[in-house]
Amino acid sequence: MKKEKIIIIKNPRLKKVRGNLRKILLQAISSKIDQLEELEELIIEERGLRNKKRIELRDEIDKLFSLRGGSICRCGNGGSCLSLKKFRKEHPMNRMDFTDLDMAYIPEQGEWFCVECYKRIKFLMAKYPVR
Ligand SMILES: [Zn+2]
Repeated sequence: MKKEKIIIIKNPRLKKVRGNLRKILLQAISSKIDQLEELEELIIEERGLRNKKRIELRDEIDKLFSLRGGSICRCGNGGSCLSLKKFRKEHPMNRMDFTDLDMAYIPEQGEWFCVECYKRIKFLMAKYPVR
């Protein structure tokens, strides 16, 4: 994707549907990663670190991490996400219910960010342009 894009959903029901779909996608990817990492452990025990099967598996796992990280399901700022920090302050016990954010794509970063982080990044990009 090359163009900047902001996706905002105002309807609370649609927001919930979007959040739930993101949760399902993230859980599916995480569970696949867990499964492949268990298989990787078995291969390492049997054949050691340096073998073709293990290297192929690690590539597949890395691709899934990268897909998950670069997806619209999560803010590209990860643990430093401004919305996540605010959410954790307001809901210290809830670690899962954080997927219904409006998101923006920044082509220069090649990633999706929540609107709060997007505003901050755009501000910083304007203030400190790359020369
Ligand atoms: Zn964020």
